[in-house]
Amino acid sequence: MNGCHIGPTVEGVAKRSTLVSYIPRALSTGNVEVRPNTFVTKVLTEDSATEGLHAAGVITRDTWTGERNEFRARVIVMSGGGIETPRLWLNSGLPENPWVGKGLTNHWFDSLTGIFSEAAIMDALGVSDIKPYVGQNSAARFDYPGLGVLITVGYGPGLYSSIFYSSSSKGYSFLNKPIAEAPWDYEGAIVGEQLKEFMRDYTRSLSVYLFTDDDVDQRNEVVLDPERRDENGFLPVIRYRPSARDAEKREQLAVIAADIFRAAGAKTIIRSNWPPELFIHIMSTMRMGYVTDANCEAYQVKRLFIADNSVLCNGIGGPNPTLTTQALATRTSEKIAMQYFS
Ligand SMILES: Cc1cc2nc3c(=O)[nH]c(=O)nc-3n(C[C@H](O)[C@H](O)[C@H](O)COP(=O)(O)OP(=O)(O)OC[C@H]3O[C@@H](n4cnc5c(N)ncnc54)[C@H](O)[C@@H]3O)c2cc1C
Repeated sequence: MNGCHIGPTVEGVAKRSTLVSYIPRALSTGNVEVRPNTFVTKVLTEDSATEGLHAAGVITRDTWTGERNEFRARVIVMSGGGIETPRLWLNSGLPENPWVGKGLTNHWFDSLTGIFSEAAIMDALGVSDIKPYVGQNSAARFDYPGLGVLITVGYGPGLYSSIFYSSSSKGYSFLNKPIAEAPWDYEGAIVGEQLKEFMRDYTRSLSVYLFTDDDVDQRNEVVLDPERRDENGFLPVIRYRPSARDAEKREQLAVIAADIFRAAGAKTIIRSNWPPELFIHIMSTMRMGYVTDANCEAYQVKRLFIADNSVLCNGIGGPNPTLTTQALATRTSEKIAMQYFS
């Protein structure tokens, strides 16, 4: 990930985060300045007879010195992420819109782990173990349109045990009665002797993440706390309660994952059943088609564009969203160039 002074560069090996992809290329044009420690606290607007309400600048706060500055621009792009972008809209007092901050999707994650015997792995792969810590450890993906996604994933032992065995909305596994018809053997957090036993088989364990294609629901939202604030404005309050339909999809995916493990010869299958408050793929709180038009320009504030996960119209079916958001942001930049700078 971090490159190496005698080997590959960061740009060559790192995942394609903005820091190693778009930003170096943008800086190399000489037209871009990056201002670190700069938090936008307000989007400024102007009203004109020709354009109506449009973005005209921002107020920023230096997070080290507290100094405030004002910048004017012909176009403003909001890209503070699925929570901070709606927060900034609301804290800026921009026009009311029933979809600002609403419709949060988050893929309601889960994970399952299959533990295999040496013989089963030998049969399937011709080697005696899986080694979840070696090589590209997220290399297989299963997309089920309408339900979501399963991806295999591996880590070193510390992270592995804490991610796959330590968290559950079902409490401790040993306190849960086994459900006869469940396709997994254990559900819940694994602790004590059982954790030691499972981790002894760690090199023969395979885990999958489960990403649910959760529906857009206007009750899932980012709103402002009416009283509490920090130095950047009122705090965001996040509410996310998946629906019964989301639960159904998630169950179906978990059953599919367990079936795959069983068919591959797993002797033991463990389901984590994570709580919904695991926020990693925070999306669709400023939805295209509701808050913005198809160019990602806000309907109610011209020259104000959105280029982050919040502008995705929904949970895009379940996959990790970043590449889609980056592709959309690239397209948005072309739209901006054509519309306002050509
Ligand atoms: C542990 C973890 C693992 C993940 N793994 C994957 C993966 O494997 N694949 C994948 O596709 N996705 C993954 N994701 C999700 C991925 O991180 C997000 O999809 C992506 O970062 C979202 O991009 P964004 O631009 O919407 O928001 P962010 O990446 O959060 O960017 C928003 C930026 O804006 C800044 N900001 C916020 N408000 C302001 C403001 N008012 N003024 C100035 N700056 C502001 C923030 O500091 C931040 O730098 C993972 C997330 C986590 C937490």
